[in-house]
Amino acid sequence: MLTRICSDCKKKLPLKKFYRNRRRCKICQKEINVAYYIANSDKRKVNATTWQKANPDRVKANSAAWKKANPKKTKIYQQRKNITGAHRAMSAVYEAIQCGNLPNLKKSFILCSNCRLVRAVNYDHRDYNFPLAVTPVCLRCNNLLGAAIPITEVKI
Ligand SMILES: [Zn+2]
Ligand SMILES: [Zn+2]
Repeated sequence: MLTRICSDCKKKLPLKKFYRNRRRCKICQKEINVAYYIANSDKRKVNATTWQKANPDRVKANSAAWKKANPKKTKIYQQRKNITGAHRAMSAVYEAIQCGNLPNLKKSFILCSNCRLVRAVNYDHRDYNFPLAVTPVCLRCNNLLGAAIPITEVKI
């Protein structure tokens, strides 16, 4: 049996435990990949958003494909949004931004109204009964604050 000594763990292993032309065995390579993955997770996030911005059509196609492949999940997701009023509240905010009634957080630098440390990226709802009662918050605070109060009257 053909073997090779791994340059990292120094174990003598069969060739099939190595990727082609590599001196490091698959197990050691995997560990390095994981470390690299963790070390670069922030960078990758940035890359992903840049990619998403540069490829709006692909993003649309991908999400359409996902919806098609996961009709049940999509339905539940939409129902939940409708029930809580999140969808209505979000479109109200979106419209207000378009009309200039709310500052566009992508264009204006506004500090998070919760931590006052970093830039706000989202409008946070505390109560979906008041779709325009929002505060600009950063992602972290938005997650910390959690879900808003759902709408009490459900329009069908
Ligand atoms: Zn190894
Ligand atoms: Zn914050």
